[in-house]
Amino acid sequence: MECDKIFENEKGELITTPKRKFSTIDEATIVAEYENSKFDRTYKVVTYKCKICYKYHIGRDGNKINDKERDNSSKKISSNKILKDKLWKSGIKNIKVVGFIDLSKISKK
Ligand SMILES: [Zn+2]
Repeated sequence: MECDKIFENEKGELITTPKRKFSTIDEATIVAEYENSKFDRTYKVVTYKCKICYKYHIGRDGNKINDKERDNSSKKISSNKILKDKLWKSGIKNIKVVGFIDLSKISKK
């Protein structure tokens, strides 16, 4: 797919991995907030609508995140206990390893 991420491995081969796709901006925003709340995050993650697949992706916009923004994202996640529990139970804490979390399984309540 054209909106896959493309990496070059040690051998110089191009490999692709699918970007996480979200059908609504709300789902993408939740994950973006989560990503932005990570203490080791350097660049801010934003949501955008893809012109190729017409779904939402999250990605870095090139701007560095500051402590205040990280804090705000963290508060948004932790202030929503139901959401937080569901994110954690879905294994979202391993999001970098897993690469994809099916948020459609999370109730929007
Ligand atoms: Zn796309």
